[in-house]
Amino acid sequence: MTATYDVINPATEEIVRTVDQADVAATDRAIERAAKAFETWRHVAPGDRARLLRAFADNIDAHREELARLEVANSGHTISNARWEAGNVRDVLTYYSAAPERLFGRQIPVAGGVDITFKEPLGVVGVIVPWNFPMPIAGWGFAPALAAGNTVVLKPAELTPLTAIRLAELALESGMPPDVFTVIAGKGSVVGERFVTHPAVRKLVFTGSTEVGQRVMRGAADQVKRVTLELGGKSANIVFADADVERAAATAPYGVFDNAGQDCCARSRILVQRSVYDRFLDLLEPAVQGVRVEDPARDTAEMGPLISPGQWEAVASYVPEDAPVAFRGRTPDGPGYWFPPTVLAPVTPSDRTFREEIFGPVVVVTPFEDEADAIALANDSAYGLSGSIWTNDLGRALRVSRAVETGNLSVNSHSSVRYWTPFGGYKQSGLGREHGAHGLEEFLEVKALFV
Ligand code: NAD
Repeated sequence: MTATYDVINPATEEIVRTVDQADVAATDRAIERAAKAFETWRHVAPGDRARLLRAFADNIDAHREELARLEVANSGHTISNARWEAGNVRDVLTYYSAAPERLFGRQIPVAGGVDITFKEPLGVVGVIVPWNFPMPIAGWGFAPALAAGNTVVLKPAELTPLTAIRLAELALESGMPPDVFTVIAGKGSVVGERFVTHPAVRKLVFTGSTEVGQRVMRGAADQVKRVTLELGGKSANIVFADADVERAAATAPYGVFDNAGQDCCARSRILVQRSVYDRFLDLLEPAVQGVRVEDPARDTAEMGPLISPGQWEAVASYVPEDAPVAFRGRTPDGPGYWFPPTVLAPVTPSDRTFREEIFGPVVVVTPFEDEADAIALANDSAYGLSGSIWTNDLGRALRVSRAVETGNLSVNSHSSVRYWTPFGGYKQSGLGREHGAHGLEEFLEVKALFV
């Protein structure tokens, strides 16, 4: 009998749909079909591959609202975020659709001849997606993989399979050949593990927790399988006394509470220079209370619920009775896994709320003395994914940015993810880079030929 999974709407606690879960045999069949399709897909003329990817992108655009509504129901994302997310898949596909006609090699002069390099696709790429951003994270893996000439098998998270399943249907409808892009819903321990162990899967793109990422990396070693790992984060938002403190405080909630804090790039540690610490907190309080936590299907919603009761319990464990709660936002009554935006202050670096990825709408605020102290605190983490620096001193902005051990930083804003600029983590936040030319290179082998 086929195993199934009930997908629950986290804002209403109602079942949205029941989805079949693949077993190992079904996963193997899908991988083998993808391996066969690779032999054709890799030889599709570059211009035709580009056209097919653009048609897929256009079809996503035509179904953008439907995809967004599906994500609201499955993941509790706000409708405005979900529209952006569907649009992001379209944009990433469009961006990489330019790649097939630009996969150039090099000519390198050598004594007695010339060396010619070719960029070759790898084969079947396994993309493993977490539940927090089901659409964009899927697209960041499958779009460059397909553009490079690989075929893709993709496993969405158990909790959030619906938009990925729909994307695979849209791919077929738009003319993509069968088995070039396959979505396989199922458990990480079954489908995900099989991607790791199946020899026809030549590369893994894993996005998720550091713990599972480590396991995937260990497993990949058996076949020296390539991996890109996008893992956890505990990013710092560093506010210097010379900054526009009003703006830093007004935007800080959006840097951490977006997607109810279930964001690998969440700036979940706010470090504030001591001389403006009290003023910053005074300004932060109304900003946090102003975050609109409501039915995510409403256009005005700024934050929805957590994804599941399990996630709610995990987040709540960081806010026990005696937690240093400075202030909190509001949540709606009734069903749904709601958790209020919560500010803990002051929090010392030894506290687990400072060290662990909470993955919910809980932020810690910690004072610092000077530039060196700010850098030391920011780097006092196993992670290094993202972060922000608020200062009006350009020299300081550059100095601190270079010193903070993290893959993506923003100065005087909280935005650091763009599909045409590299994205990825330092330390235990990951391995490899997505987006832009860096992202494409992750899906290509280089072959050197001496003539
Ligand atoms: P998770 O590690 O529990 O699961 C991620 C995916 O891996 C799921 O599809 C899951 O089914 C699968 N999986 C589980 N066990 C597996 C196994 N043994 N082998 C192969 N696959 C397996 O993570 P999650 O709870 O879904 O997502 C939250 C985490 O993802 C957070 O730590 C967050 O920071 C991280 N994340 C990172 C980025 C980034 O770009 N760096 C982006 C989004 C989320």
